[in-house]
Amino acid sequence: MGIFIYVVIFNLSPLLVFSSARFLNTDEANTSVDENEDGEFFTRVDDMIFLSRRVKAGLSSTRFRWFGGMIPYKIQRGLPEEMYEMLHDAMDLIEEHTCIEFIEKTAEKNYIYISYSEEGCFSHVGMVNRGRQKLNLGRGCWKFGTIVHELIHSIGFSHEHQRNDRDTYITIAYENVEEGKEHNFKLDREMGLEFSTYEMPYNYASVMHYGSMAFSDEDDEPTIIPKKLSELSSKHVYYSALDDDGRPVIGLRKLTWGDVRMINLMYKDHC
Ligand SMILES: [Zn+2]
Repeated sequence: MGIFIYVVIFNLSPLLVFSSARFLNTDEANTSVDENEDGEFFTRVDDMIFLSRRVKAGLSSTRFRWFGGMIPYKIQRGLPEEMYEMLHDAMDLIEEHTCIEFIEKTAEKNYIYISYSEEGCFSHVGMVNRGRQKLNLGRGCWKFGTIVHELIHSIGFSHEHQRNDRDTYITIAYENVEEGKEHNFKLDREMGLEFSTYEMPYNYASVMHYGSMAFSDEDDEPTIIPKKLSELSSKHVYYSALDDDGRPVIGLRKLTWGDVRMINLMYKDHC
């Protein structure tokens, strides 16, 4: 039972040789802003929005997929050039490694509307088949890894730390969670959602994994504590680095091979 570390992933150029590179090009971590503004038809769980009446339907259902892996988008007018470029770089990174394509909306009915005027970073999860669906990147969301994270929600993914098997790999320290924010640590099944893990190992380094201080109360103690690698009964996990305690580092907000693999498995019959 060997330790499952993924080293080198994509040789982006034949001249580049990675000895310990496990990430694709993204930026630093940023915990998403929680928004509690529920619309008439939507339920928001942290930075993910679900259609209320469909919450129990589950996103492993293929009807939440984008046809052909093509995601039409429209950007709110007036987005500053620098942000426009960052957004496109994030799309390009996903396109480069997956079969997903972001295309400028023309006549398509369903599309993501990328806005920046509201507070918070949030997205619908998957294609909700209701025409325009918002992906908002407010102030504080303009970090490369955060944009990639929200785009991957729109592709159809939840959070890694909400996987139904996560308690095998991490401990949620509820005593350190800010009051009223406990729902952010529910398991997918507790939210009535069905997500497939595609039998992929738990990915501590996933761009969809929150950091240890997510929703921490004023005492500033960690809310997500990765188990020590030595304590895991199975070492079949993905991680990028261990801290001094031998715990995998989380909250890296970088696109990893594991994330890419999951996207390609989700869409393998669609694009
Ligand atoms: Zn999220």
